[in-house]
Amino acid sequence: MNPFSDKEFLLQQYTAVKNDIASTCASLGRNPDTVRLVVVSKFQPDTKIRWLLEANQREFGESRAEEMEEKWEALLSSYPDTRLHYIGQIQSRKIKLIVKYCHMIHSLDRIDIAEKMAAECSRQNKSMECLIQINTGAEVQKGGIPPDSLSSFLEKCRMISPLIIKGIMCIPPVNEDPLPHFQLMQQLKNTFRLDELSMGMSNDYSKAISCGASILRIGNKIMGDRNEH
Ligand SMILES: *Cc1c(COP(=O)(O)O)cnc(C)c1O
Repeated sequence: MNPFSDKEFLLQQYTAVKNDIASTCASLGRNPDTVRLVVVSKFQPDTKIRWLLEANQREFGESRAEEMEEKWEALLSSYPDTRLHYIGQIQSRKIKLIVKYCHMIHSLDRIDIAEKMAAECSRQNKSMECLIQINTGAEVQKGGIPPDSLSSFLEKCRMISPLIIKGIMCIPPVNEDPLPHFQLMQQLKNTFRLDELSMGMSNDYSKAISCGASILRIGNKIMGDRNEH
């Protein structure tokens, strides 16, 4: 039995993670209001998401457009003040759905996608907060632009209205110490005077907070193992 299928257990985990974030902030002298928690609900059932919505969690991350539509159509009508974050790779044909449901995109890494996104935002009469994904580990299978392309990429994206470029996001390589990756991200954020730094997942969020993360994306530590099949 997966203990996370029990409501009380899941809510305990949720509270424990939130308290841990608060005490990490306190030990670093950071204001906890400067760190937002996005709960990653990809591959998780509606029931568990509802438990968190009932507990007043209002920011969630999803990585597949169709799954997001299936689950969130009903959930958003019950909780319309919820903000969805798109954290997966963006495919052109999914842009319409992504624009319809999301408040922020964390994974922008192509100019042609940015342009299509902007055109779709105009059609739907929305603006869109965007983060640029940085491939800090130069991993071929992973999305994101190389750190040294950020300057020119930013310059181009900033001219594409109605996109609002808020900051950067990274997913460090799985088998490496994330710290140098987070430090590089912090440097980039300062160099380019960005507002948001999306980094830190279940296993490394404390280190991310210590490097200035403003948005944490935490999945299984709160919601349990995902059913990815
Ligand atoms: C799945 C995912 C997460 C959450 O990872 P956990 O290890 O479950 O906390 C965070 N960010 C991205 C981009 C993801 O795809």
